[in-house]
Amino acid sequence: MSNHPSKERTLVIIKPDGVQRTLIGEIIKRYEKIGLKMIALKMLVPTIEHIEKHYTLDPEWRRITGEKTIKGYQSKGLTPPSMDPLEITAKILENLKKYMTSGPVIAMVWQGAHAVEIVRKITGGTEPLTSDTGTIRGDFVLDSYQMSDGDNRAVRNLIHASGSVKEAEMEINHWFKPEEVLNYRLVQEQILYDVNLDGILE
Ligand code: ADP
Ligand code: MG
Repeated sequence: MSNHPSKERTLVIIKPDGVQRTLIGEIIKRYEKIGLKMIALKMLVPTIEHIEKHYTLDPEWRRITGEKTIKGYQSKGLTPPSMDPLEITAKILENLKKYMTSGPVIAMVWQGAHAVEIVRKITGGTEPLTSDTGTIRGDFVLDSYQMSDGDNRAVRNLIHASGSVKEAEMEINHWFKPEEVLNYRLVQEQILYDVNLDGILE
């Protein structure tokens, strides 16, 4: 049962701008409403070292994020600040450290079927300008790569959400001690995952 899709876990962080915009309740509501279960939660001001480690847990993150940024510019007919993905990410990482340590954040673990993918869908794409309306980033914030890079700062997009199951596993271990992540049952899980539906009628 521990490998069942309903047990998948993902890390979500409400970034300092999400806390400052008083969107904590709104953001949690969206993950809760779809049927995911919160299994860990804390509020803290992260250290610079903690943030650097968080973003470099995946050795591929620097390359992927740089390439994503270059594509983001090109798809709008704009010239990227550099054609070297690693050069782009070096700057992003510096700016991320400033952004993510600027105030309190909320770190959470959410569990449920396809938690990683579902949370990314609800959260929306990295750049708020192009995130779909209906997603958290698309509905509540208006930043762009062009504006953030021009001002030499990280793009403010309210939330961090793990990008893959592997990333989620590493990130959860980075933010939470094993005993801070709780195992419990929610009553609604019966209607979400029960195979026989034989517990409803009296
Ligand atoms: P995501 O948070 O959607 O997984 P990434 O892992 O690619 O996105 O990047 C991590 C964070 O770095 C983003 O959420 C964003 O805050 C910031 N960021 C990414 N690309 C840029 C960029 N080109 N300019 C400024 N900030 C960026
Ligand atoms: Mg990411």
